[in-house]
Amino acid sequence: MRVLLIGSGGREHALALSLAEDPAVEALIAAPGNPGIARAAAVRPVDPIDPNAVAGLAVEEQADLVVVGPEAPLVAGVADAVRAKGIACFGPSAAAAQIEGSKAFAKDVMDAAGVPTARARVCGNADEVAAALDEFGPPYVVKHDGLAAGKGVVVTDDRAAALRHADGSGRVVVEEYLDGPEVSLFVVTDGETALPLVPAQDFKRVRDGDEGPNTGGMGAYAPLLWAPPDLVDGVMATVVHPTLADMRRRGTPFSGLLYVGLALTSNGVRVVEFNARFGDPETQVVLALLKSPLATLLHAAATGTLAGHPPLRWHDGSAVLVVVAAAGYPDAPRAGDVITGADAAGVLHAGTAKGPDGGLRSAGGRVLGCLGRGPDLASARAQAYQLVDQITLDGSHHRRDIALAASRTG
Ligand code: AMP
Repeated sequence: MRVLLIGSGGREHALALSLAEDPAVEALIAAPGNPGIARAAAVRPVDPIDPNAVAGLAVEEQADLVVVGPEAPLVAGVADAVRAKGIACFGPSAAAAQIEGSKAFAKDVMDAAGVPTARARVCGNADEVAAALDEFGPPYVVKHDGLAAGKGVVVTDDRAAALRHADGSGRVVVEEYLDGPEVSLFVVTDGETALPLVPAQDFKRVRDGDEGPNTGGMGAYAPLLWAPPDLVDGVMATVVHPTLADMRRRGTPFSGLLYVGLALTSNGVRVVEFNARFGDPETQVVLALLKSPLATLLHAAATGTLAGHPPLRWHDGSAVLVVVAAAGYPDAPRAGDVITGADAAGVLHAGTAKGPDGGLRSAGGRVLGCLGRGPDLASARAQAYQLVDQITLDGSHHRRDIALAASRTG
């Protein structure tokens, strides 16, 4: 199988490593990729949000399967354009990707499917926002309707800050605050059959102790030994299958990766959000534990044959990922700093580029991810932090408490 992988972040580096390991893969091409991905795949330039360009590249490379990493190409219709060329694509249509592309659409699906989620109001002006904030009370949760790369949501006790976040951004969703730990569940689906991966947890806030603003994610770990044993079965029955059924009913079946962001609240499990693709950085730890060949699995989802796929197999033990972020991240990440120590096995490239001298430079907010694996969380953490400590990047920062609490309890 010839596989074309679209994207250039840490998630795609992890996807590239797992795809390349599948014996069914005879060639792996990544576009646009990054210097880390270039060690596992042939890298080609492409504008990832240009459907015709991606579909043209898939034809040129005689791809049997296109795997789309990020959400923006999906929302732009890349999967539709690839399928129109008769090539299998792992990722939903533009219409189905609205489950991530519009918070209001996602809420509508959840409502129709009877999925437990935060009560919410879709607001079109400042008066409606103010009324919704007062209806739900603090902490206030305000979300921009469209794609915002993880930065469209504020959770704050400050009513004025909540109003400011809504100001001038068109349609927003104001919703009830959900307490309790968050869990990310990835589900591979062909629209009908759905296979859950192991749940993971990520760390959204920039600083230790969950302080500071939200980021794209500063680290992750799996499995969640503290999670209730019936969590996944319950979410498949009450969330995933009703959602997939509603998407079929609308005439926009969802195939690809359904990311279910959950809060385990004192009132039960609630959906925080859906995404239409693998999450970053949880993918890095989930794929580190997946033993089943990845390209074969994603090809089955892309071709509607997931019902015939064997049960998923997993490695024992735990995986931990720690993100090394650029100076200034998340507000104003600085690019162009020299990086050393990023060639070690287990270091995943996220925001890196080759400088004019051929040396490795930072080129994004989240620059590297350091992945540790071990028989338990404590050993996986130790390995991840050993890699972090070998990296030099001027002004960089990372959290020291990724998976710390969980490693003490289980
Ligand atoms: P979203 O883009 O909807 O995933 O929101 C990003 C992050 O904001 C989530 O991962 C949560 O940490 C937080 N968040 C979103 N909605 C809520 C909510 N209703 N209650 C509490 N936290 C939330």
